[in-house]
Amino acid sequence: MLDLSSTGKARVYLGTIGGTLLCIAVALLIDGFDFATGRWRWGSEPLNNILIPGVLAPPLLFLLLSQMRQLALAHREVLTAASTDSLTQCLNRRAFTAMVEGYIASVTGDAALLVIDVDFFKSVNDRFGHDKGDEALGMVAQAIKGSVRSTDLVARMGGEEFSVFLPATDLTGARVAGEAIRQRVAAVEITVDGELLHLSVSVGGVAFAAPAAFAELYRAADQLMYLAKGSGRDRTVLDTFGAA
Ligand code: GH3
Ligand code: MG
Ligand code: MG
Repeated sequence: MLDLSSTGKARVYLGTIGGTLLCIAVALLIDGFDFATGRWRWGSEPLNNILIPGVLAPPLLFLLLSQMRQLALAHREVLTAASTDSLTQCLNRRAFTAMVEGYIASVTGDAALLVIDVDFFKSVNDRFGHDKGDEALGMVAQAIKGSVRSTDLVARMGGEEFSVFLPATDLTGARVAGEAIRQRVAAVEITVDGELLHLSVSVGGVAFAAPAAFAELYRAADQLMYLAKGSGRDRTVLDTFGAA
């Protein structure tokens, strides 16, 4: 498929060819109109009208369109960096919040929000150091991303806490997703300094019908996550939002 987006190469080549043909057509048209008689004719210098734009336009257009493409690529990189957590490559809190708020304000229907906290993560840092802790966090993030659909949003909200937004998902679907995440993280084998390490997560979550307020949903999911912690960790506690 031809990539005609602002970052696509095809746009540069087709733009150069199309722009050159346009320049030639305009040159022929201008030269072809006889203002004295008000009639169209074959221009006075028809070959020049093809040669001059044909030689000058391609390098100029190619340069201009290539520069525009470079700018578009740089812009995309800046946007990605601004919305991504550098350690885990998940969305960062700000981008996630903005995206979910936008979704639940404009789309009606079922959706779910999960809050995921790594259990006893401080002990990983204490035993193996912060760098190994960072590596372990990256693996947890990969496990979470690997357990959800490509349409779900995964964010690192801070520290060792993640959140997942599941569009078009009811309570049953949210439970399945929460359990899939919990089990996948538990199955990750992390070897640090020759020692095999297993991590677990506690998952809290709410299923709701949009529109709804993100802050309230997050608070409710967070409370359920703490309920999962309090009842033994390495478990999921999900409920319908608003169910007392
Ligand atoms: P709990 O099961 O109650 O959640 O226990 P916990 O040890 O995970 O909870 P606590 O909130 O006491 O500690 C969280 C720890 O996560 C503290 C900090 O050392 C670690 N942490 C937070 N952010 C990072 C990070 O970016 N990198 C690393 N390596 N560790 C982090
Ligand atoms: Mg924790
Ligand atoms: Mg925490």
